[in-house]
Amino acid sequence: MTHPATDSRFFREQCYIGGEWRGGAKTIPVTNPATGETIGAVPDFGRTEAREAIDAAAAAFPDWRARTAEERGKVCRAFYEALMDNQQTLGELLTLEQGKPLAEAKGEVAYGAGFFKWFAEEALRVYGDVIPSPWTDKRIIVTKEPVGVVCSITPWNFPNAMIARKAAAALAAGCPIIAKPASQTPYSALAMGVIADEIGLPKGVFSVITGEAAPIGEEFCENPQVKKITFTGSTKVGEELASKAVKTMKRVSMELGGNAPLIIFDDADLDKAVDGAVACKFRNAGQTCVCANRILVQSGIYDAFAEKFAKKVAGLSVGDGLKDGVDQGPLIEEKAVEKVERHIADALSKGAGLQTGGERHKLGGTFFQPTVLTGVTPDMVIAKDETFGPVAPLFKFETEEEAATMANDTEFGLASYLYTNDLGRAWRMMEALEYGMVAINEGILSTPVAPFGGVKESGFGREGSKYGLEDYLNIKYALFGGLGK
Ligand code: ADP
Repeated sequence: MTHPATDSRFFREQCYIGGEWRGGAKTIPVTNPATGETIGAVPDFGRTEAREAIDAAAAAFPDWRARTAEERGKVCRAFYEALMDNQQTLGELLTLEQGKPLAEAKGEVAYGAGFFKWFAEEALRVYGDVIPSPWTDKRIIVTKEPVGVVCSITPWNFPNAMIARKAAAALAAGCPIIAKPASQTPYSALAMGVIADEIGLPKGVFSVITGEAAPIGEEFCENPQVKKITFTGSTKVGEELASKAVKTMKRVSMELGGNAPLIIFDDADLDKAVDGAVACKFRNAGQTCVCANRILVQSGIYDAFAEKFAKKVAGLSVGDGLKDGVDQGPLIEEKAVEKVERHIADALSKGAGLQTGGERHKLGGTFFQPTVLTGVTPDMVIAKDETFGPVAPLFKFETEEEAATMANDTEFGLASYLYTNDLGRAWRMMEALEYGMVAINEGILSTPVAPFGGVKESGFGREGSKYGLEDYLNIKYALFGGLGK
């Protein structure tokens, strides 16, 4: 059955390379995870087409960087307007390929659009410096320049926003960008190609290429014309890309896995903590790198929290994201469901208790019941691996020090959350948490105006905010000498 969104002008089964729409003989089918039906197919391109996209980007760079910041800002603003004007259709397309509830998909489109709006304005604020000179006859200035051609590789969990975060900053800074979306969710990316085309971005400044990840990734990393790789995805692939990119000393930004703790202290507002934990854990069916992977609850509030939380989770409605009132869609693919099952089975075999869920949903396919586990301990697989699914494991702790130690006991360091009404404790914990991001008394923290990114093996680089632009800029120091008479 086709959906009206696939009849819209945003539904493309060709790639947008160097300003041309190009189809290929070999294709990759794309499945709707809610129905298992094939939505369509996109080109299975490889190194050759990646090289062509890079050549086109390199050719477009001199003109793009030479434009005024205001001109580039206007283009980013037009991108924002186009995304928002078509939020409904783009949201439907996103739900079709990714599965998340339509309200979340439309929220993602708005969130992604927000980066274009933000960077449209930030483009105007790429300031340099004048440094007081140690010499009477010489002057020192610092300018910022776009790094050059950028290649981005993004995952399937936020098919629009992950690209928007990178593309908006790159374009604002004066860099052409080539986007390689995940093969599960290429349509949202290709729709952004349609927008780039419609708003009149010069040829080669924004390209979208679909196909086999490994050869395209190799071309991106090895081609000397590429000056920056920006990646969101697994730590394993990130390490591979970074090690290849270092051979030509490319700039690299890595937004990798997380193992987010959500810590609830005895003095927290119970209802707010329950709501925040549900939003944080079950958004996108738990398939986000900032989802709470471990919920750490202090012993005095543990039972009360577990009961209220499990009750609320049991009430979440599971179904096709295009249907009204659905809170949780399907998981992206069978492999994801198997991982969730492995994590639950391991926890139960080691003594965890099942409060709600625990099994595949009766809808079949890749639908899974929202699940709450209690009595979870650090020796269980779920404590170490990112589940990336709708499973909330509740750990118990006694003291603030223990909470900080447990929270930091991971190689990851992306997002963390804590609920407490004690200001001193909130501040101490904020400082103690080895994470790039800390939310206090909130379960959702992403916004285009704040720096998103991690420490430790969650990667490096920041997206969004005034800091996000720096990743696309080189610093140039100029010394003006011989100024004396
Ligand atoms: P996920 O578990 O989210 O699928 P991946 O890191 O496997 O995480 O995928 C994120 C992105 O990286 C996707 O666009 C995928 O196609 C791409 N990718 C996967 N393997 C490679 C690779 N060897 N080289 C380049 N890109 C890759």
